[in-house]
Amino acid sequence: MDDDLLIGAHMSISGGVEKSLIRGESVGCKTIQIFTKSSNQWKAKNLLKEDIERFHNNKQKTGITNIVAHDSYLINLASPKDDLRQKSFEAFVIEMERCRDLGIKSLVMHPGSHTGAGEDNGLKTITDQFNSILNLTKGWDVNVLLETTAGQGTNLGYKFEHLAYIIDNVDQKDRLKICFDTCHVFAAGYDISNEEGYNKTMDHFEKILGLDKISVFHLNDSKKGLGSRVDRHEHLGNGELGENPFRFIMNDARFHQVPKILETPKGKEMEEDKVNLALLRSLAK
Ligand code: MN
Ligand code: MN
Ligand code: ZN
Repeated sequence: MDDDLLIGAHMSISGGVEKSLIRGESVGCKTIQIFTKSSNQWKAKNLLKEDIERFHNNKQKTGITNIVAHDSYLINLASPKDDLRQKSFEAFVIEMERCRDLGIKSLVMHPGSHTGAGEDNGLKTITDQFNSILNLTKGWDVNVLLETTAGQGTNLGYKFEHLAYIIDNVDQKDRLKICFDTCHVFAAGYDISNEEGYNKTMDHFEKILGLDKISVFHLNDSKKGLGSRVDRHEHLGNGELGENPFRFIMNDARFHQVPKILETPKGKEMEEDKVNLALLRSLAK
């Protein structure tokens, strides 16, 4: 049955956070991802009590209760520069606070860029930041989802081992989960485009991180090739991945309960989301 497929797309919060839910419902989302604030600005208006109320009301109204947040692109917890790292730390805690207040339990983030300091230093820096962040937010019902990245520039997180290092070295391991982005994983060099490669990649993931760590999928096709280390999303089936990996994931019983979210380009009417979601439904047997 289509009805219990936990699929959806990233939705705009333009006009108010609560609008994202109505937009999602209008294209048939059963789950959505949002930025809780503008993704390319440091500053954010505080959420008012009314904003939070309207958000909760729309959750009820739409039945969309499985909601994921994504942090701002400016945040870099791996930065070797004290001022940027401190600013990132503070901004990230605010992101977590907004999730807590909106009742959002998953905050997806990109681990960070070492910007020349080297991968080992970068990973160590991120781990230190998370130990402080998780300590400061102890008891909050918000998990951090480290996203698998394409590995552009000095971006960390393009190897499963990077993510495992961070999780292994924080105190509150249970609060760190994974967001598996199909485009990024493929661009990073894991060939999930055919069945053998998909199985091999998932076996490797199981060994390094454990498949039960995957709390969200980002379902994006890739404009660029295997191992390109370039992050460019394409509509499902139209890129280098083709339809196969989406068929595998949609029919993999291990991931039935895991939200699957599109981050593909779209216009104001969101027709593209409807097409991609219809494809996912057709791929699910
Ligand atoms: Mn992302
Ligand atoms: Mn993503
Ligand atoms: Zn991406």
